Amino acid sequence: LTSTEEAVLDEIEEEGVDFLRLQFTDILGTVKNVAVPARQAEKAFTEGIYFDGSSIEGFVRIQESDMRLKPDPETFAVLPWRNNEESAAGRMICDVINTSTGEPFEGDPRYVLKKALERADEMGYTVNAAPEPEFFLFEEDEDGRATTKTNDAGGYFDLAPKDLAQDVRRDIIYGLEDMGFEIEASHHEVAQGQHEINFEYDDALTTADNVGTFRTVVRAIAAQHDLHATFMPKPIPRVNGSGMHTHLSLFDEDGNNAFHDGDDEFDLSDTAHSFLAGILEHAPAITAVSNPTVNSYKRLVPGYEAPVYVAWSDRNRSALIRKPAARVPAASRIEARFPDPSCNAYLAFAALIQAGLDGIEQGLEAPDPVRENIYEFDEQKREEYGIETLPTNLGEAVDALEEDEVIYSALGEHIGPKFVEAKTQEFDDYLVDVSDWELDRYLETF
Ligand code: GLU
Ligand code: MG
Ligand code: MG
Repeated sequence: LTSTEEAVLDEIEEEGVDFLRLQFTDILGTVKNVAVPARQAEKAFTEGIYFDGSSIEGFVRIQESDMRLKPDPETFAVLPWRNNEESAAGRMICDVINTSTGEPFEGDPRYVLKKALERADEMGYTVNAAPEPEFFLFEEDEDGRATTKTNDAGGYFDLAPKDLAQDVRRDIIYGLEDMGFEIEASHHEVAQGQHEINFEYDDALTTADNVGTFRTVVRAIAAQHDLHATFMPKPIPRVNGSGMHTHLSLFDEDGNNAFHDGDDEFDLSDTAHSFLAGILEHAPAITAVSNPTVNSYKRLVPGYEAPVYVAWSDRNRSALIRKPAARVPAASRIEARFPDPSCNAYLAFAALIQAGLDGIEQGLEAPDPVRENIYEFDEQKREEYGIETLPTNLGEAVDALEEDEVIYSALGEHIGPKFVEAKTQEFDDYLVDVSDWELDRYLETF
């Protein structure tokens, strides 16, 4: 055992952990658990834990269903909402190993991100990422099912509802801190019932792990308050949706921020300009991965601080990529504003990073930033500026993904086709449905 593994065993002992959840995610980003008694922890480190992968979304065909989970000891944490005097549960995030080859399983999203980070490493970079996940808190009905009624809808009471939301958010933050998160800021978002909690940046793999944990903690603690937390991108029409802005930067082998150049007008290096140009170039295909649901495209419409047009800016929030002001050189970064929190963070980060690295490799040059509000541009002005539009629905995004060799292959040979298949089905299913909007509009008119 390594010393980190030993330390995990000690902690299991000290904290009285009796169950361990071994976690990984499916292609859609859903966190899956295999629970084992904590006394199997040592075996989990030495031999791994075997499971039948055929039941997991898009993992394997039935004939080749044996998978092994290899826990990453760095990710051990005691679950704060399952911790009491008598018992406690811990979790570890795992890599998935193909038992027939002993190699990492190509269908594991964590592996897809590791491959992107390997490529960055070969080019001399490490990648840092920080997400800003937004979410809504909704009330549950008598049967405990989620509604779209916000718990802080002003007007009914003056003070109480607002305080209630603050209490929940405070408990969520404590829960996250117990799980080892460094919380940077938290605030009520633009919409009623909408919140944002930002956590400290980290290397991109840790951050992707954290996104899964974050969603789990937020939902579990909201549930303790009889609330449903949703990361659905646009639960309420005609108000702001929930994004997951993703801040990215590259560091070089000397530990310097490779995105920083104090002589540049925007404090961005050529590397940063090329990286962001790569994201702009591949944006339509990335969207399929970073905005992977039918509902995602209800958020990507003009007027609600979510991007619609492929451009970058050092000022305004209507652009796809923004250059946030950095207080110190180490903080130079770009903010991709299109991802939403329904994405699989491993795959979305992999797609963004591979696009950016492709931009560097091709020596792409970024266009000029756009400083006006792009929502207000008409078609002619957009043409003049050479500004493309993001896919307007999941179907278009999946088409763009299939046509983009760089992003499609970033997903790997296993996940690429499975992802396209799953998302094509999802979109087809949506197309044949008849919505409430249609009934309201047409049922009595015709
Ligand atoms: N909720 C907005 C979105 O859909 C973002 C608001 C903000 O700038 O934080 O991306
Ligand atoms: Mg926000
Ligand atoms: Mg932001």
